Amino acid sequence: MKRKIVILGSTGSIGENCLEVIRANREKFDVVGLSARSNVKKFLEQVDEFKPKKVALSNAGSFLKLKKGLSSGTKILAGEDSLTELVESLKSDVVVSGIVGSAGLIPTMAAIKKGIRVGIANKEPLVMAGKIITAAAKRCKATIIPIDSEHSAIWQCLNGEPKKRIKKIVLTASGGPFMNKSLKQLKNVTPAEALNHPKWKMGNKISIDSATMMNKGLEVIEARWLFNMPPEKIEVLIHPQSIVHSMVEFEDTSVIAQMGVPDMKVPIAYALSYPDRWPASLKSLDLSKEKRLDFASPDLKRFPCLKLAFDALSKGSVFPSVLNAANEVAVEAFLAGKIGFMEIPKLIKKALFSNSFDDDDSLKGIIAASSAAREIVSSILKR
Ligand code: MG
Repeated sequence: MKRKIVILGSTGSIGENCLEVIRANREKFDVVGLSARSNVKKFLEQVDEFKPKKVALSNAGSFLKLKKGLSSGTKILAGEDSLTELVESLKSDVVVSGIVGSAGLIPTMAAIKKGIRVGIANKEPLVMAGKIITAAAKRCKATIIPIDSEHSAIWQCLNGEPKKRIKKIVLTASGGPFMNKSLKQLKNVTPAEALNHPKWKMGNKISIDSATMMNKGLEVIEARWLFNMPPEKIEVLIHPQSIVHSMVEFEDTSVIAQMGVPDMKVPIAYALSYPDRWPASLKSLDLSKEKRLDFASPDLKRFPCLKLAFDALSKGSVFPSVLNAANEVAVEAFLAGKIGFMEIPKLIKKALFSNSFDDDDSLKGIIAASSAAREIVSSILKR
């Protein structure tokens, strides 16, 4: 029987790759729901091809344009809450979340409450509310499968291993486009340079996060919750070739690493096929051509965002949510050309250490802290 799948953020880079995996496995899936923000043109093509029962458009302003273009009998939901409604109202076996940013939190929670398989590529919800999300998954018997390549790697390394014997988790980082730039050079990099990632083709927000290494910081927090690891057992290593996607060291000092070509279709397919593995039409990894694999410790002076993420974890409570929100606003400002690259960590630091947050780590408290952090950074930017 075909599995019913809902894809949140289908016009983004994760969504498109996910649909490509499904295209290669059409006999296995029935796409019942899709969501997008505002790219109506691409969305219409997808709806036409996959004929979902329902779709959601989070930018309600584009509703009429979508309605006019639809030829099939697909039902349209629109507005901020439409993604959650889409997830709640459809019968599904798998939900894949490829939304960008904190907007994914509530729909992801809705998917988890259904007690189904939830593939999470959208790291921000786990950063903000990892404790709540993983507890809900346990309670509702939902299976969270990470799609983030590093976490997919760790998930694979841990398959069948005794969790209590983990010595540490090592997240690898490509280092981004600015790995070899000096602190002085970093102050003058442009958004266009920052968007030009050497190894992974990704959306704008995550590309900037990669350049500042906040992406790795968010992934450390994500790993903390996905694998129930204390921060001191999570390490980051720069690995420019992006072949080793992450590794786990066990108490006997054995290290298990997952390797592969850097293509998001691999972790996406694994999240859908697990515990099986499906044939892929990708080129195999050729280590003889690769010749060398380099590793180095990250430089926290040039990439202070990574340090800030560890700070947020040790502060605990709502602070990962504060870090995430402050980062979202700072990245938007950088992309808009309003601030320099090295202002990003400065703004985040100001929010993180501003002493203006309540210690309420309920979902409501986390969302409130996120809004408060956005406001703090926005008001600094207005000055
Ligand atoms: Mg990643």
